[in-house]
Amino acid sequence: MNDCIFCKIVAGEIPSYKVYEDYDVLAFLDITQTTPGHTLVVPKEHSKNVLAMTEEQAKTLFAKVPAIARAVKEKTGATGMNILQNNEEIAGQTVFHTHVHLIPRYDTADGLKIEFTNNMDKFDLAELAEKIRF
Ligand code: 5GP
Ligand code: ZN
Repeated sequence: MNDCIFCKIVAGEIPSYKVYEDYDVLAFLDITQTTPGHTLVVPKEHSKNVLAMTEEQAKTLFAKVPAIARAVKEKTGATGMNILQNNEEIAGQTVFHTHVHLIPRYDTADGLKIEFTNNMDKFDLAELAEKIRF
């Protein structure tokens, strides 16, 4: 896509700090470095996000994530990693070319804090599952 910043990075039109590249995917350092080694894995073929991907496009991208994630973890000396992926503006997506965040974790004050609210009491889980099941 002409105006897509990650397509431009894939094409080499915008510089990036690459950490892995093959025929299908590119991994490069996220400019913000939430924690040291924060990496983005992107498919070379443009898609908007996971919600817009075909099964084949998803296989191509996600098959590469474990090996890249292991390399980032091992080479940064991190002890864990959050693997995050935002879809649409409400979910925090700011670049509309599918990407997977690899965020190495070092300690509880390393720059990333994720908390899941427990709303179990507020919803009927059987009803929700019935609504979603396909
Ligand atoms: P999102 O918010 O869509 O999940 O993540 C987009 C990410 O892309 C952000 O973490 C942001 O720092 C990163 N980003 C945006 N523009 C650039 C860029 O030009 N180069 C690099 N390396 N990262 C970028
Ligand atoms: Zn793109």
